[in-house]
Amino acid sequence: MEIKEIQTKILPEVENIILVASGKGGVGKSTVAVNLAVAFMREGYATGILDADLYGPSVPMALGLEDARPRVWKDNGKELMEPIERFGIKVMSLGFLMQKEDAVIWRGPLATSALTQLIENTRWGKLDYLVIDMPPGTGDISITLSQKFPRAKSIIVVTPQQMAIADGRKAAHMFVANGVDIPVIGIVENMAWFVPEKHPDEKYYLFGKGGGEQLAREYGVPLLSQIPLMADVCELSDQGKNFFNSGNAILIKAFEELAQKID
Ligand code: ADP
Repeated sequence: MEIKEIQTKILPEVENIILVASGKGGVGKSTVAVNLAVAFMREGYATGILDADLYGPSVPMALGLEDARPRVWKDNGKELMEPIERFGIKVMSLGFLMQKEDAVIWRGPLATSALTQLIENTRWGKLDYLVIDMPPGTGDISITLSQKFPRAKSIIVVTPQQMAIADGRKAAHMFVANGVDIPVIGIVENMAWFVPEKHPDEKYYLFGKGGGEQLAREYGVPLLSQIPLMADVCELSDQGKNFFNSGNAILIKAFEELAQKID
């Protein structure tokens, strides 16, 4: 059977799948995934987010859902799960299902099978967009996950320093090698510059400049967005709030524009 057919069978009610990837952790991949999903929802799209980052599932915390547990039921011997609804988006995360220490023992095939179950057994209903927060890096789990979604599109999150380009390149490569051919829609450069709270018109290039642009040029894809480093981002994520209820005009505009460029 063709890979594309398998995938259509897996998520037949999902119109568009956006994989949010990065070459390494800590660049803001989850932050981008969560706020992009909220931006889609605000545009009127039925949206879900799947947190597939099993080594650091941060979506529950970023959405204030640390204690949430999805409803699970059995249908013909198969365990099905209902996503949790938050800010008008449907949310599923391995974090809802595992104990903190579980991540340590989930390796290779076990991790892949846990993710497969999460993908196949979640009852999303009809969705215009499913945003998937990928595991960081380009290991087996990320590759298996990409192979599951041949009709998906991807965005790659990097930070501006030159070092980040090598990581971003690996992530982009993952989508065009390994027997998959997932289009890279573009690059998001996070922490592009620092904006002080009291002086929102100032920009400080703490981590250098140009990483996102260089990677975009190399792959012939657009630099979709440059998101500044702001104290608000960290505080909002820690408090389980998204950018749209922050009133931070810079962040709201960045994510509105990002969603519009993708849809
Ligand atoms: P990843 O998913 O790549 O590991 P996260 O989205 O979890 O990264 O972000 C890592 C940390 O950096 C989090 O504490 C998050 O709040 C913070 N962060 C992400 N983007 C920004 C930003 N633009 N400004 C300030 N802090 C940020």
